[in-house]
Amino acid sequence: MSMAIGLRTLEVDGVALELKVVRKRVKNINARLHGKTLSVSAPHRVSVRELDETIVELARKLVRRLRADALNSDGGAEAIARKVAVRFPEPPEVNEVRFVTNQTTQWGSYSPQTGIVRLNAALRQMPPWVLEAVVAHELAHTFYLEHSPEFWNLARSVCSKTDRARAFLEGVTWLAAAWDDLPPVERSQLVGGGSD
Ligand SMILES: [Zn+2]
Repeated sequence: MSMAIGLRTLEVDGVALELKVVRKRVKNINARLHGKTLSVSAPHRVSVRELDETIVELARKLVRRLRADALNSDGGAEAIARKVAVRFPEPPEVNEVRFVTNQTTQWGSYSPQTGIVRLNAALRQMPPWVLEAVVAHELAHTFYLEHSPEFWNLARSVCSKTDRARAFLEGVTWLAAAWDDLPPVERSQLVGGGSD
């Protein structure tokens, strides 16, 4: 026996979902995403508040996983990464590039052990030369852990847009953090502007 307790919409990470919740004799809260519909089954003992919190958490995970899968279906980033890697005097091995949606504090990482480059999914929306510079940066850390002058020299030698990309990403970070606090008029100036 199951009983629907509600049908409503839910927004996570800017994606609107239709939520279908069913109380059942199950052990744990389970969620499945079909298109834009999130179907949740929950044990009777779970409180509404606990359920709401868990649903948001599960929904975010599912939406982000789906997004990462979509981004990773195209090998374009891998081609860029390989192209950058061979410019190094001792080319690091690139086996795979993965866009990740759970990485909020950094733009990328690289593991020399696995040859996997992980990139913040937001980079996929930016100009390819920014992505290229991030890959160059992460690969350069194979040789220098710190951001020493030697590190920057190496990064610049394999990617001439290293400094430009750094400034670009600083601007992106600044805007993302400031956006909610910007007055509407200034926001619309940024959206509509660009040229003088
Ligand atoms: Zn670094």
